[in-house]
Amino acid sequence: MQSDILIIGGGPAGSAAAITAARAGLKVILFEKGVHGRDKVCGDGLTPRAIGALDELRIDYSVAHRIDGLRMIAGKKQRELAWPTTAKFPNHGAVWPRHRFDTHLIDVAIASGVDVRFGCEALPVLEDGTVIGVSVGSEQYRAPFTILAAGAQGMAATMLGAIRDPNETFGLAIRAYAPTPRHAERHLEACLSLSDEHGTAVPGYGWMFPAGDGTVNIGVGALSTMKGFKKLNLNTLLDQYASLVRDSWSLGDYIEKPRAWRLPMSCIRRHGPGWVAIGDAAGFVNPMNGEGIDYGLESGILAAEKFIADPVTASEAYDREVGERFDAFLRTGRRFSFLIGHPWLLKPGLRIAVGTQAAADITLSVMGNLIDSKTPGAAGRVMKVADTALRIADPVLRRTRARA
Ligand SMILES: Cc1cc2nc3c(=O)[nH]c(=O)nc-3n(C[C@H](O)[C@H](O)[C@H](O)COP(=O)(O)OP(=O)(O)OC[C@H]3O[C@@H](n4cnc5c(N)ncnc54)[C@H](O)[C@@H]3O)c2cc1C
Repeated sequence: MQSDILIIGGGPAGSAAAITAARAGLKVILFEKGVHGRDKVCGDGLTPRAIGALDELRIDYSVAHRIDGLRMIAGKKQRELAWPTTAKFPNHGAVWPRHRFDTHLIDVAIASGVDVRFGCEALPVLEDGTVIGVSVGSEQYRAPFTILAAGAQGMAATMLGAIRDPNETFGLAIRAYAPTPRHAERHLEACLSLSDEHGTAVPGYGWMFPAGDGTVNIGVGALSTMKGFKKLNLNTLLDQYASLVRDSWSLGDYIEKPRAWRLPMSCIRRHGPGWVAIGDAAGFVNPMNGEGIDYGLESGILAAEKFIADPVTASEAYDREVGERFDAFLRTGRRFSFLIGHPWLLKPGLRIAVGTQAAADITLSVMGNLIDSKTPGAAGRVMKVADTALRIADPVLRRTRARA
């Protein structure tokens, strides 16, 4: 069967690409191995940047729980800040539980004319190094452009060499839902000073993301650069964090068993003849906060736009533009993760991050994925300085990285 675009994966990235392409009149088939309404392990937080991408896609998010800012906690220090008003992004975010959010997006894709095949595990089909389509069991589908939107790298990614760089950082995170009377609050809460059961500082954070539906999404995430990462028990870390917030949130028992998943933060190869990777499949997760929905939406829109503009140059043009948009910031984030992997650097770093209003404003922009080296003002300047300083320190930080 011949189409214009084949998409492997029906998360936010795949749906964004599908919606953009179908609205331009292209014939699109999207394969999702899960069922309609499948869930995705996530914190469910939509940054203002993600809201900007939903605006671009003309997605109605009025049913999502609106979020106006972030409360950052580091030790005894607390700061509650509103999302900033910028020229580029809206000044609000949202919490939208993923089984509802992703279902809404895929329903918009279907309404836009996308042929969505649920329960179909698709793999790329290669001919002389070019992706010519996908296979689902014994069936083959052909198209000049295949988009890998399969999330954290698996079999389809391995076949394309779109795998994680083994020398780079990655993350693991776990989440649960629990009832709380504070479910309708309009601020996310992030506890930046996490420790494991041995008291070792964990580079990562614990979150309370109120969903507005009687529950809060509670979770913890950690970076692979920490000492003892391989032995880190995420369930224990989550329980420990839950005991810290139980009283202040009047937290009830977990509604279901906590679930963990990977956070890919690099990708050796994200394009090739006839294909591109988007979202988590391309490693687009901010190492400084573990968030990637916004990058997934943006990279999905961009991949489809590049194919619409010129099918012949789409793959190269996508790689170039997505690189200009994300690479420098995400590289700084990965270098930063090696820095905070050292507990003696993490603790003073946290004090600085929320110590003053000016520093907290910059931390807020980083936590909201609102910043890159082109961002004007203090935040952009600090990012440029951090990029340079981390580039110089990077070889040492990696050589001396905290090992298990
Ligand atoms: C615990 C946790 C908390 C997080 N919290 C946040 C947060 O609060 N905010 C945020 O922005 N980000 C968060 N993230 C990251 C976020 O979940 C991802 O960045 C986001 O889901 C990426 O979207 P995606 O569409 O690229 O991939 P996914 O959402 O993973 O979707 C990929 C889809 O592809 C399907 N698939 C896989 N292989 C195949 C195949 N071969 N054939 C067909 N289908 C296939 C899968 O079933 C899946 O539906 C969190 C991640 C974790 C693990």
